[in-house]
Amino acid sequence: MRLFRHGLAGVEKPGVISPEGVLLDVSAFGEDYSEAFFGTRGLERLAAWLGDRECPQVPAGSRTGAPITRPSKIVCIGLNYRDHARETNAPIPDEPVVFMKATSACIGPNDHVEVPRGSTKTDWEVELAVVIGQRAKYVETSAAMDYVAGFTVHNDYSEREFQLERGGQWDKGKGADTFAPMGPCLVTADELDPSRLELWLKVNGEVMQRSNTADMIFDVPVLVSYVSHFMTLLPGDVISTGTPRGVGLARKPPLYLKPGDVVECGIEGVGHIQQRIVAAR
Ligand code: ZN
Repeated sequence: MRLFRHGLAGVEKPGVISPEGVLLDVSAFGEDYSEAFFGTRGLERLAAWLGDRECPQVPAGSRTGAPITRPSKIVCIGLNYRDHARETNAPIPDEPVVFMKATSACIGPNDHVEVPRGSTKTDWEVELAVVIGQRAKYVETSAAMDYVAGFTVHNDYSEREFQLERGGQWDKGKGADTFAPMGPCLVTADELDPSRLELWLKVNGEVMQRSNTADMIFDVPVLVSYVSHFMTLLPGDVISTGTPRGVGLARKPPLYLKPGDVVECGIEGVGHIQQRIVAAR
């Protein structure tokens, strides 16, 4: 299944994309895509409820929201592609590098992204995001995929000065409002093998990142298992699996985002998302 959410920010309604690509409103199912939904076999219940049911189409031009309600955690993996570690002059990690992204940063896939006040180094990172399907604690790698609901596209926006030059932890440069657009949909794990997917990102139409999830240092099952040994993953939580080479920080000279820029990124089998950059209000 392909799940998405539609409507105004904060009051989105659930939807399902039909096999023919039609956007269907499934508000009548009565549940949003939340921790409670995923934690009570919501995917199976929704599939059974859908059956051959006729659902209304979503009106053309509706806003698309993030495909899940605000998660309890966005756990991000740093430096998980060798070529990205190299371009940032960081050592290849022996264990996954883990940091947290504020969940208040979540927005819809095509919403505007704000350059924070005082920012001169707002940057992009296309990433495959894993959505957790059931409570995961001390999970073995061999069983890890049983805990995955599905996948979506995440642009892990980053303010490099706040992240790297202002002292403290990476989190400062990762949590600004609007820094976590996700979508356009959640593709359920039964429909997508995450181990070999093309991913790409363009700024104003120019390709900046192009890689394949096969180049991850630590793959999805390893990451789910690894994180679950440090914190309990709840249904609906997100693990963002890291970005390949081609970020603005590593360009010569570096290139950072400014109001008016348009950033587009996508992952094979999931879809693409696009944001216009604006100044923070
Ligand atoms: Zn990242």
